[in-house]
This record gives sequence, C-alpha cells and structure tokens, in this order.
Amino acid sequence: MRYSRMLIPTTKEVPADAEITSHRLMIRAGLIRKLASGTYTYLPLGWRSLLKIIEIVRQEINQAGAQEILVPSMQPLELWQKTGRSTDYGPTIFQLTDRHGKGNVLSPTAEEVVTYLAAGEIKSYKQLPINLYQISTKFRDEFRPRFGPIRSREFIMKDAYSFDADPAGLDKSYKAMYDAYCRIFKRCGLRYVIVEAEVGEMGGSGSHQFTVPCESGEDTIVYTEDGSYAANLERADVDPLPKDNGRRLAGTPVVPVEVPPMQEVHTPNIGSIESVCAFLKTQPKDMIKTLIYSSSKDIHKKEIHAEKTKHDGRKFIPSHLHPVRDYAILIRGDHEVNQEKLFQLLGEHIELANEATIKEITDAEVGFAGPMKITQKVSKMIIDHAVAAMAVGVTGANKTDYHVKNVVPGRDFPLEGDNIIVTDIRYAQEGDTHNGKKLLFKKGIEVGQVFKLGTKYSTKLGAKFLDETGNEKPCLMGCYGIGINRILASAIELGNDKDGIIWPITIAPFEVIITCVNQEDTNVAETAENIYQQLLNKGIDVLLDDRPLRGGVKFKDADLIGIPVRVTVGQKSLADGNAEIKLRSEYQSQKVPVEKAPDKAIELVNLLKKQLKA
Ligand code: ATP
Ligand code: MG
Repeated sequence: MRYSRMLIPTTKEVPADAEITSHRLMIRAGLIRKLASGTYTYLPLGWRSLLKIIEIVRQEINQAGAQEILVPSMQPLELWQKTGRSTDYGPTIFQLTDRHGKGNVLSPTAEEVVTYLAAGEIKSYKQLPINLYQISTKFRDEFRPRFGPIRSREFIMKDAYSFDADPAGLDKSYKAMYDAYCRIFKRCGLRYVIVEAEVGEMGGSGSHQFTVPCESGEDTIVYTEDGSYAANLERADVDPLPKDNGRRLAGTPVVPVEVPPMQEVHTPNIGSIESVCAFLKTQPKDMIKTLIYSSSKDIHKKEIHAEKTKHDGRKFIPSHLHPVRDYAILIRGDHEVNQEKLFQLLGEHIELANEATIKEITDAEVGFAGPMKITQKVSKMIIDHAVAAMAVGVTGANKTDYHVKNVVPGRDFPLEGDNIIVTDIRYAQEGDTHNGKKLLFKKGIEVGQVFKLGTKYSTKLGAKFLDETGNEKPCLMGCYGIGINRILASAIELGNDKDGIIWPITIAPFEVIITCVNQEDTNVAETAENIYQQLLNKGIDVLLDDRPLRGGVKFKDADLIGIPVRVTVGQKSLADGNAEIKLRSEYQSQKVPVEKAPDKAIELVNLLKKQLKA
C-alpha cells in the first residue's frame, strides 16, 4: 500500500477521556475514532491489525478441532428467559422490542443460541465431542465504558462452545482450548499469566482467565511469589486469620483477656466506620460491620409490594407471604465483602437490603446494625473468618444512634448454629496468605477466559444425547471467549515508547515501512519504488511512504504507527549506494547496499516472526 493513498490520520490531539496509553496511541496513530460512548470505528490500520489477530485466533482454534459458525447477534429474549440470564445478566444486556412486540437481546455472548442449536442437531453420543465457535460482534451495555476498546459497548469476541458426553471428555475439550489460548497469545506477542477465575454468571465448575499484566488493567491478579497459586481477586481464597486470643506479651504464651460485658455507647448521627472509629478512638480492624442483604429478586418483590400500598391503598404484603431471603453478613471494618464469593456460597445474587428491611431486622435506622439477637430474623448469618478470629470488637447496637463495645464473637453472638456459616467471604488484601504463603497483587487486562459449564445450559435448553446404552443425558458443556479488540489494545499497552507504538510483528498493520526521504528526487523515488515492488513480490506486508513531505515528519509518523521494520531511502546514503534499515524497537540503524535492502528487510521480518512462534 502507498501511504499517500491511505487514510492514516495521525494526530497530536488526544481527547481527555483517553486515560491510558493504548487508547491515546490508537487515536494518535489513526487506528480508531470514537463514534459514541464505548463504540469505535476502526480505520484501515486498526482494522488490518484486528484482521491479523482474527486470523491467528481462527488458525489456532481450527487447529484445536473446533468448527467455525456464525449465529445471529439479535436473539429472541425467550431463549434468555429460559436460562434465567435475561435477568441474571442485569442491565448489561441490551434489549429491544420489535414491531410485533417480541423481545430481543443483542448478544453479549451466545451460550443460549449455540445450546439451542445443539439441542436441535445433536442426538447421539456418536456426534460428540463437538466444539462450535464464532468470531463476531458482541454488545454489552457496560456501566462505565472506558479505556477505549478495552471496555467498550460493542466489540469482537471469539466465542467457542464445546459439547461432551462425559466429564473426561469435557476435561479434554477444555484442555484443548486452554492450550490453543496459550499459542494464540504467544503468537500475538503478549506476555500473559493464567489465573484461576470465578465462574460468576456463567455457572459451572471451573474457569481460568488469561490476563496481561500491566498497570492500566482493571483486573487484579493475586499470586504467591513461588508461582504455586494465581487467581483473580474475585476468586482468590485467603487463609483464615489465627484466632486472636487477646494481648500477647513478648516471649510469653498468649494471655486470654477477660473482656468485660458489652457496653452501649451513644454515637449520635455517627454511622460510617470512619466516624465511629474517630469517635470511639478505635480502628477499622477492631470494628465488626454488620450488613443486611436480600436476594436480588426479593428486593424487587418488596418494592412492588410497597408500590401497591401507595397506589391502591392495599396493605403492604407481609414478608412471610413471599419467600424472604435476607442475610446478615459480618465482616471486619477494614475488609470488603466479595460478592462473587457470596454468590458461589448461596447460589443466588444478593444485594444490600432496602431501608425498610434493614429497619425491620435491626429495629434501628440504617447504620446501627449489629449481630446480636438477629439470627432468627434472617435466613442465614454469614460470618467472615476474620470476624470469628477477633478477640473483641465494636459493632452497631441495633438501636438508633448507638454502638456497642466489648463485643466478643461466640459470646455475644453465635459462631455456630443451623443458619450460621463461618467462611471466607472477603477480598484478599495486603498481608493475607494462601496455604501459608504471602499473597502478592498485580494489575492486568483480561484477554480471554475458559469455563467448564457442566449441564447448566444443556439442561435448561434440552441439549441431550443418547449414550451407548440408550439413556438420555444432557451434554456437558464448556465455553471459551477471547476479546479480539482487547488483544490489540493490550499489545499496545505493552509495546510502546514516547514516540509511539511498537508492534509485535504478527499483528502489526504492516511488517515493513519504506520511508522515502526525498520523494521529489526521481532516483530516490524510483529506488524506494523498486524495493517496494520486490518486497510485495515476496509476500511482505509493506507500506511505502511516498508522501511529498519532509523526512522528519515521515520518521515521526513511522515511529507513531510503529511498523516493526523501517527501510529508509534518501539522497545522502543513496549517493553511496546504500539504504538504511532499522527496527522500530531499536535505536540504531544499519546501512546496507540498496540491492541487498529487500533481502535484509525480509531477514529481519523472519527473525521477528520466529521469536513469536507458538
Ligand atoms: P470483564 O470481567 O472484563 O467485564 P468478562 O469476564 O465479563 O469481562 P467474558 O464474558 O469472559 O468477559 O468475555 C470474553 C472476553 O471478551 C473477555 O475475556 C474479554 O477479553 C472480552 N470482553 C468482555 N467484555 C468486553 C468489553 N466490554 N469490551 C471489550 N472486550 C470485552
Ligand atoms: Mg471473563
């Protein structure tokens, strides 16, 4: 391609919402332009890179034995209702109603549709295993689209779905995808780590995330230094803290402290952890936060009932008439509740209860909840390990404007009982351990994830098969996603300097750029053209900068768009019969006789490619 004919609008202007390097460089190098919040147009250079990534993904996923299909992006809401995900997915799902009043979903992923397909087409174990995938546009109404293509509302995903007859088969299908992912990210030039992940909305039994460590990542990777454990923050299990028996005197055994009985303290209008700590001169780690949660659907129901009271004058329907699942969650003042861990524990989504529920359970205004005498008013009381390990703490008094001191877990509220669970429900933090080893933290971008789904979707959508003995069984499924646009952005996040992008050669928009420094000089122009033609003939992806501009401008653009190999043809070196060749990643250039320039460029291209072989 000739630069003079291409749309490569490099620019110095970067909008304020471009917070991270990759986003800024994608705009500056003319790869993308924003259309609206979270949606981007890919210009020729950006799209060329995306196509290269897609090709690598396609080759490796085919190699792993999967078959490519394409399913509609607009999907009947009905299917999503069957699996419960029309509501479970929450407001992230784009929905629209057609002219006949039918509900539709703009696909954020495609488990429903592919399982529905399998339900119709798979009859016998003889057809298994099978893995179907697509590379297509996905839509998610992200709460906060940001970082350009990294968290956008419309993006390209490779999504694969495996169907197996038994657990051993699923393990094999999962492993095949896992291995293919390793090859894909290696070939794309990404440094990545694989971490245990939470299954979340997908359901199922196991999952791994492929994450590119970098400062701008939104995910947190938690790992041990020896590499024996790595998980994302949602998943990371922490060891229970040792029981704090009271004051320890150096060199002596632990001395249990006799804690005086609980004592109420007047804390008028003081609700938050910080203000209580300041007032009582204590620390967040000595506070017990008591949080009242309700299952998400109950919150909804209660609000509907409350509405009815308002409009038609009917009485509020008492809570025992519908299934109430309210929960008390106990966590130390300096810790944070991990919603994913709660979801895995309870099998349902829960959220902070509404004001009415909190008042009903605690007999107090919001901000003064405590664990004393409320066990019978909630479905379950879930106590974090770290709370159970406390010797003594401060908590709400279940009385407006009051807290209590000298609260001893196990003495003043139970740690055992039918509806009491003591377990790990918080996020890991600095100082925590896993299997006795110190946990470390690192930021990263999730580029792909693999899940063992089991039978969640096949059961609900009837994807069954007859086994060897003629018994009908649901298929065991796995699903496997890769964010194509995120690969592009993370590659730039990892490969850049102050002058611009430094591409991995495999996904660069071009492999070689020929910078013709004196376009007006016929000899120079013809030499550059000649090298260009030779490289084209050898199948090299080459861009000829034939614009009638100053050398300085061309070098700046070449650095900004980051093409890995640059061949410079200019009057000065040509006078000695030379061209100059330089890698984008290196400062030094080397002179080569012009007639050898094409071969030298090809040699460098091959060298760079070899480094990224899977
Ligand atoms: P996240 O936790 O970052 O929201 P996710 O875990 O919900 O992502 P998956 O459902 O696992 O995403 O989707 C598969 C892949 O699609 C992700 O690994 C990621 O690379 C990509 N992806 C997901 N959401 C977005 C988005 N909003 N913009 C761009 N890529 C995305
Ligand atoms: Mg994911």
